[in-house]
Amino acid sequence: MSIEKLAIFGGSPVKTMPFGTGKRFGEEEAKEVLEALEQNTLFYHFGSKVKQFLADFNAIYNLQYSVATSSGTAAIHVALGAAGITVGDEVITSPVTDQGTLIGILYQNAIPVFADLDPHTYNMDPISIESRIAGRTKAILVVHLAGNPADMDRIMDIARRYKLKVIEDCAQSYLTAYKGRYVGTFGDYGCFSTNDFKHISTGDGGIVTVNSGEQADYYTTHAFADKNYHRFGGMVSRDISSLAPNYRMTELQGAVGIAQLKKLHWICGQRERYGETITAGIQGLPGIAAPKITEGGKSTYWFYLMLIKEEELTCTRDAFSQALEKEGIPNAPGYIAEAVYMNRLFQHRTAYSGSHFPFDITGITYSEGLCPVAEEILRTSIYLNISEFYTEQDISEMIAGIRKVALYYQNI
Ligand SMILES: *Cc1c(COP(=O)(O)O)cnc(C)c1O
Repeated sequence: MSIEKLAIFGGSPVKTMPFGTGKRFGEEEAKEVLEALEQNTLFYHFGSKVKQFLADFNAIYNLQYSVATSSGTAAIHVALGAAGITVGDEVITSPVTDQGTLIGILYQNAIPVFADLDPHTYNMDPISIESRIAGRTKAILVVHLAGNPADMDRIMDIARRYKLKVIEDCAQSYLTAYKGRYVGTFGDYGCFSTNDFKHISTGDGGIVTVNSGEQADYYTTHAFADKNYHRFGGMVSRDISSLAPNYRMTELQGAVGIAQLKKLHWICGQRERYGETITAGIQGLPGIAAPKITEGGKSTYWFYLMLIKEEELTCTRDAFSQALEKEGIPNAPGYIAEAVYMNRLFQHRTAYSGSHFPFDITGITYSEGLCPVAEEILRTSIYLNISEFYTEQDISEMIAGIRKVALYYQNI
């Protein structure tokens, strides 16, 4: 095996051509937006665009009911509110996620409790979830990280045994299948984001699915996204009995969403293929572990997170990351810098300034070591971007770059 001189030491970089790019928005979106404007209203309840967007989404997911929101964060908050999560309840979730997973929990004055992760799928470990269940536990907020499904059979089994609500955070996992069924349809609610960095974008926006198929649950969910006003049967009831935010989606976002959904299968198909190609291409390399797809699952790769096994290499994760960068392969050490509970909000327990509420209800604290596997994943992983617009050549050069650096630094 020939060892090539790394670009970081003056060798020639593997990748010299720019990565493929493409237009996410085109005439399809423009046509829909123009039609929205011509309605002379941009209010979801009076116009047809948000309604059409949801109808198209429901058709893809084979659902009867879903609700549009102003963001993915809002979708999760709405699901929690509709599920009845309230002051002092505990919600078990993942320590490796976007802050948007946690915001709704804290605005309901409920308490996030973190379960540890599987070391290779990076999703919540059912054994750890079960070990975190206590008297106040009301829900499991499952994060399907980076397009890879969580172990839903075991999670749903735990939820049934302990009578817990299940909310799925699918912000990174469009068209992610688990045992032949899309994630977002297993729990009580599935939450999606259409912010500008997800598989599809409406600028900002989100969707909550109502999986019971019950009209009463749909009404509760719909109302929680709209100040708890009930806009049904031609009537509006403003006689509210508890607090809910205004998280409405506008017709402009709905219009863009209609056109974006038409591209969803292509986008997810490209990403799935590229993710699988990288995994096949780096198989068996020293010092590298590809992400493991959950058994029975299929990933639509919102990003690609591989692990560096430092004991098999003569370099650190950070040195590997820098060498790969110099080969022309952009990457980042880890996904988020630290487990979310290491943020000052959790360390100082200040969801609300000048207060320790709701943490002081139970006196919970969040210390380093709380989820050791999650911490190790963040300490040893390398993040690679995946785009549906990358070319086959981009993907083979990414593989060649990883291969070159791994072989150079292998510990023999
Ligand atoms: C993006 C994201 C969110 C939040 O979505 P926004 O639309 O940005 O509010 C929540 N959870 C996860 C896992 C995400 O990736």
